[in-house]
Amino acid sequence: MTTVNIISVKKTYPNQPTPVLKDFSLSVMDGEMVALLGPSGTGKSTLLKLITGIERPDSGDIQFDDSSILKIDPNKRGAVLMFQKSYLFPFLSVEDNIGFGLKVQGASSQTIRAEVKRMLNLIGLPGIEKRKVGQLSGGEGQRVALARALVTNPKLLLLDEPLSSLDTEVRMNLQEAIRVIQRELGVTTIFVTHDLGEAMAMSDRMALLLNGEIVALDKPENLFHRPRSLAAARFMGVSTFLSGDQLTVKNEAWSSSEKIFAIRPEHIRVQKDGCEQSMQGMVSDCVFRGEYVEYQVAVGEMSVRARMPMPAPMFPHGEQVYVKFPKEYLFEMAGY
Ligand code: ADP
Repeated sequence: MTTVNIISVKKTYPNQPTPVLKDFSLSVMDGEMVALLGPSGTGKSTLLKLITGIERPDSGDIQFDDSSILKIDPNKRGAVLMFQKSYLFPFLSVEDNIGFGLKVQGASSQTIRAEVKRMLNLIGLPGIEKRKVGQLSGGEGQRVALARALVTNPKLLLLDEPLSSLDTEVRMNLQEAIRVIQRELGVTTIFVTHDLGEAMAMSDRMALLLNGEIVALDKPENLFHRPRSLAAARFMGVSTFLSGDQLTVKNEAWSSSEKIFAIRPEHIRVQKDGCEQSMQGMVSDCVFRGEYVEYQVAVGEMSVRARMPMPAPMFPHGEQVYVKFPKEYLFEMAGY
């Protein structure tokens, strides 16, 4: 299979004053699924275009198994791209759509038939060979698009927001299906998304991209629980940052010095009574969301967002409360 190395890649679009990617490096291990996560306009799709050969970098290198692919024709690189829209051929059957790549490669009709059958079993839609693509639901269409992408045994699978146009349930099913298929085939995969939940559910590692740079790269659970930088923490849904001083003044046991600490909203407690590691505040908002209650509490100058799992007390707007920051959940910011 394939390891991918993206080395110091720079890319500037024509007539643009600044590069989209400045000095971009990323290594993806054989069989690994790495999610590129970030807001739109940060260069995620550009990176995929550079890998497939739709665009060329100004400088840097892209290697598969330690050999540069930049001089190889786009269609011979072995990287397949799957988009949000499936771009299946609407006038062809499912079989002809999936088998298209093999036909181009000159495979026999017997091989194509067998491979299409194998792929349909893999995507959980056996027996739909003769269906027209126009008769498929959105989710089925994306499964067929995945089969078409994988039928040629690509070295690298690139997924560009492949599930964005689907509704929640279909999307969750497909997240699982893609992950299972990807693992089963062991195909190295780069997956672009702006959806944190999706990136966490599907990837072995997540790279957070902001302004064309990776600001954090780690396993989802590490990034979620212990983002190291302010930018990464914000992106992971952390909004409460406390200086060591704030914590020390109120209670010596908490912490020290000039350091900055962060805490996830679901680890903050809102309660009626004061206790160690708590600060007094006033409820500015309390929203019942079924599985949890979401609070905004004004604590001095700060607005603290807390997310308390049910059953949780419901304090009305204006109520005087205490906000507890349990010491065991505070983590230090490395770069800010
Ligand atoms: P993302 O996938 O993270 O949303 P893109 O890679 O699509 O980001 O785009 C990154 C930046 O490059 C954006 O500011 C976008 O407007 C710009 N861009 C993308 N394609 C082109 C192009 N062909 N010409 C000029 N600018 C482009």
